Parts: sequence; C-alpha cells; structure tokens
Amino acid sequence: MRKISLIGGGQAGLLLGFALLDKGYAVTVYTDRTAEQALNSRIPSTAFLFDSALATERALGLNFWEDVVPFGEGMHVDFRGPDGRIGLTVQGRLGDLQGQALDQRTKFSRWLQEFPRRGGKLVIQAVSVADLEKIAAESDLTMVAAGKGQINAFFARDDERSEHLSPPRNLAALLLTGPKMLGDRPWKRVPFRPLRFNFVAGVGEFFSLPFYTHTKGECRSFLFEAIPGGPMDRFQDAKDGKELLEIARQVIAEFAPDDLHHLDGAELTDDDAWLKGAFTPTVRKPVGRLPSGGLVMAIGDTAVLNDPIAGQGSNNAARMVRHLVSRIQARGNGAFDAAWMEDSFETFWAESAMYTTAFTNALLKPPGAPVMEVLGAASQHPPVGDAFMRCFDDPRNYWPWIADLDEARRFVAERTVPCAA
Ligand SMILES: Cc1cc2nc3c(=O)[nH]c(=O)nc-3n(C[C@H](O)[C@H](O)[C@H](O)COP(=O)(O)OP(=O)(O)OC[C@H]3O[C@@H](n4cnc5c(N)ncnc54)[C@H](O)[C@@H]3O)c2cc1C
Repeated sequence: MRKISLIGGGQAGLLLGFALLDKGYAVTVYTDRTAEQALNSRIPSTAFLFDSALATERALGLNFWEDVVPFGEGMHVDFRGPDGRIGLTVQGRLGDLQGQALDQRTKFSRWLQEFPRRGGKLVIQAVSVADLEKIAAESDLTMVAAGKGQINAFFARDDERSEHLSPPRNLAALLLTGPKMLGDRPWKRVPFRPLRFNFVAGVGEFFSLPFYTHTKGECRSFLFEAIPGGPMDRFQDAKDGKELLEIARQVIAEFAPDDLHHLDGAELTDDDAWLKGAFTPTVRKPVGRLPSGGLVMAIGDTAVLNDPIAGQGSNNAARMVRHLVSRIQARGNGAFDAAWMEDSFETFWAESAMYTTAFTNALLKPPGAPVMEVLGAASQHPPVGDAFMRCFDDPRNYWPWIADLDEARRFVAERTVPCAA
C-alpha cells in the first residue's frame, strides 16, 4: 500500500486525506492542533463553499452539517461611492450551485476525530523543515497543506504569478447572531437568503454570509476588507471581538447605512468568533527540495494563497484535491518525483488556479470595461445577474468575457434575447 503523508489538518490536508483513504492509500496527517484545540480556537476564516466543493465533501460522506447549515441562495451586491451612496445594485441567484458556510472550528475538529475512525493515522505535531526530512524519507509522497503556516517559506515564491508584494487589504471578521439577520429573508428587498456584498470605491468591501457555528447554530459572518490606510482601515487596534463589533457598526453606519439596522441587538456568537490581520497573497513553486534531496509538494493555500475577497481558498482546495486524487491514482506504482509534482501542479494551474487567482486579483481593483458591461446589464436583467453569480462556483467560467469587451457583450446578448412573438 502506498504511503502518503500530509502536513496540515485543514481544508486541503484533511479533504485530500479522506479522499486518499477512500481510494485505499495509507495516509498520515500531521497537524499542530488536536480536535479539541481546533474547536476551542479563534475562528481561522469565514469560508463559504459553493456547490461543487460541497459535492466533493458529500461524495466522501463528510457533510455532517448538511441539514443545519443555512444555504446561501445568491448574492445581493451594492457598488457604492466613497460616501456610501449606492451607484449600482446587482443581484443574482446561484440556483443549483448554492452553497454553505460552516465554522472551520466546527468542521475541522469533527473531521480530525473522523480521520482515525476511517483508518487514517493522525499525528499531532508542529512539523519543522527538519521533521520533513524524516517524514519524506518514510513516505512515497509528502504534501504540505499548512495554510498560512511559517513552514510555507520553505517553498519559493513564484514571482511571475504573485502579483502582490504586501497585503492588498487589512481584514477583520466576526460571527454575529441577532434578531434581524437570520432566517430565510433577512434582507427585505432580496427575495432569497443572500450573500450580502458591499463594494465601496476607494474604501474597501464588506460581506455578510449566512453561516453556522457549533457555539450558536445559525448566525451570519461579517468580513471587512479595508484598503490599507483608507477610511475603513480602523480595525487593527481592536483588542477583542466586542471592540471589533463596535467598529463594524461605525463602518456600516458610514458606508452602508441602509444595512445598519441588521445589527440591532446583534452580538458575537462566542468570545472567539473574531479575527483580524493581513497577509500577502502568494503563489509558490510547488516543489520543495530538502537538504537530503527528498521532495515535498505544496498544496492548498501553501501553493496558492489568495485574498479572501472572492471567497475561493477553500473552494480552490477542493478543486485541487479532486485534481490530485486523479493524478495520484494515474501514477500507479510510479515514483512521485519532481517532474510528476511540477506537472501535477502546472496542469491544475492551467485548468483552474490561474483563473481563480486572476479573478480574485481583479476584484481587488476597480472593474474594467467588460465587467462593467456585464454588471450594468445584470442590474437590469436577472438572467445576466444569475449567470454572473453562478461563475463563483468555478471562476474559470468568467473567461473569456471578463477580459474582452466583445465577449462580454456576447455574454449579455445571449442572456437577454427577447422572447419571440
Ligand atoms: C477571513 C477569511 C475568509 C475566507 N473566506 C473564504 C470563503 O468565503 N470561501 C473560501 O473558499 N475560502 C475562504 N477563505 C480561505 C480559506 O479559509 C482557506 O483558503 C482554506 O482554509 C485553505 O485550506 P488549507 O488546508 O490550505 O489551509 P488551512 O485550512 O488554513 O489549514 C492549514 C492547517 O495546517 C496547520 N499547520 C500549519 N502549520 C503547520 C505545521 N508546521 N505543522 C503541522 N500543521 C500545521 C494549521 O494549524 C491548519 O490546521 C477565507 C479566509 C479568510 C482568512
């Protein structure tokens, strides 16, 4: 039985671990936190998964929360001026691609318990580069899925593919519960349960998603993406979640006052339901060569770390897992050498990750002419809005029109054909 070692018990490491167990591999996951520690930590993320990522988890029987997590049925987006005034509103339904957002504390702690039950070996250890030598020597294949962990520095930055030299946004996130944000129709003017997006020119963005956490059940996440040094960049001195919530109220009052009443009576779901910080999105070279000559491969955020503005990191991890499982199986008993690692990553980059990365980076800038063409039409024609939002499930579907005005016009025309008499 081929032996595969995975470093990191998060979205990429655990999902790949379960998928490989399912195919009969001997899998060890090394991670730095026990299930209990993962459960009782601060929130690491506010990740929303679209349908195809959820389908990957469902196929492996990992969807333990399917019936309790509220579905996000579509997006309602306001594009605002720096004074908060709405310039354009776009709405779209996800239809059969609707998704769910589940607290990663809830999810990973349960998955960490499940992994040994299914025959996986779980080692609680903060793995160093020196430890990688031993692990790689004992394994047929070793992959690093350490998220934003320091061990990532072992993999060289890919300068050509990494657009950012510093964090494009300063981030703050909260999980909130309250009488005016839950249920099927929390936003009265939106006829479905929305992912609520606000884009404020020159200021940043904020998003609120239907969410689920073990501490309170149904709730909503709020993620603020402040342009560094801009007028929304005021979360970083907050000492705890309560201070963050106060700042969140001020920011919403200033830049999206029509949304403020949703926070009436709102409170944190628990004392750990907040995060703040910043990171530099980075694409890394996938192959790490150890001093002894042993090889390890970067996956998940370790390989492709994007800003959360497009909500793609966990979705990208799920897509990468699907790709890697088929590559690993196709390798049979062949060596997982540097050429195999390079090719496995390059094919994934070309078919998927380059689009995810380009789409994410595009959202961090003012929209170009093709996107404005589609958004303008989407504000008038629901089928265009629906089609736009459904591409979030797989950002590759934004091409070719996202970068080509003629294609954008064609995309609109195909969805606004008047009914024949
Ligand atoms: C605020 C925010 C909002 C987000 N929203 C979304 C969203 O809406 N949709 C979406 O798809 N994605 C979103 N993301 C991104 C998503 O959370 C990540 O992309 C995803 O979790 C990456 O999975 P991963 O397995 O690569 O890393 P992680 O899930 O971070 O897991 C890494 C694991 O490795 C462990 N580890 C680290 N170093 C070591 C070491 N040396 N030894 C052993 N273990 C180690 C860590 O403790 C952790 O358990 C968001 C991220 C943030 C910060």
